[in-house]
Amino acid sequence: MAPHARLDHRNPLVFDTHELGRRPGALQRLTREISAPRDLGIQGVIGVPEGNPVELELRLESVMEGVLVTGTARATAEGECVRCLEPLELELEADFQEMFSYPDADDRGRVKAEPADDAEEDEDRLFLEDGLFDLEPVLRDAVVLALPMQPVCQEDCPGLCSQCGARLADDPDHHHDAVDIRWAALQGLAGSLEDGEKDEMSGAEAGVDEKQEK
Ligand SMILES: [Zn+2]
Ligand SMILES: [Zn+2]
Repeated sequence: MAPHARLDHRNPLVFDTHELGRRPGALQRLTREISAPRDLGIQGVIGVPEGNPVELELRLESVMEGVLVTGTARATAEGECVRCLEPLELELEADFQEMFSYPDADDRGRVKAEPADDAEEDEDRLFLEDGLFDLEPVLRDAVVLALPMQPVCQEDCPGLCSQCGARLADDPDHHHDAVDIRWAALQGLAGSLEDGEKDEMSGAEAGVDEKQEK
């Protein structure tokens, strides 16, 4: 999307600041419930399903250079546990704060063509367009930051059995007899190795002792 593509006031993530006015210090609080746009979250990990309600609480403050927007988004995110792959839900609360600057505009509020040499400097800045601003990029960044990169169904989720893939949280006593037999064999082997090492060690120790005695 071009930086100054026209905003549509019917878009639920577009907000109008005309009521706020341009007098610095003016405040406006508002709430709005929207339907989650597509891909709101961390793709393939966890996110708010498209169409799910997102509760927005905004505080608009008129400042010299534009409108400072502070707010919170609340929604239910869905994903799956990275350890046991069980579906999980998470109550998401994402805070954000963003400045929407007044663009260099003519007296009718229309945006002038952006000078090429300013493009780099303005890359990360967001602008009001005809008194409107688009919260979507701000909401997206805030939601990604508020979500866990490695969601788990519970802090101590033991994950899946490496032998059969069973979910260990459902069955803490889960075990495999065949593996136990192999373990027993390995433990027996380990035991005899340890004995061997101990014998060598005591020999070595004896040697040291002998040297020290000299
Ligand atoms: Zn889990
Ligand atoms: Zn198993």
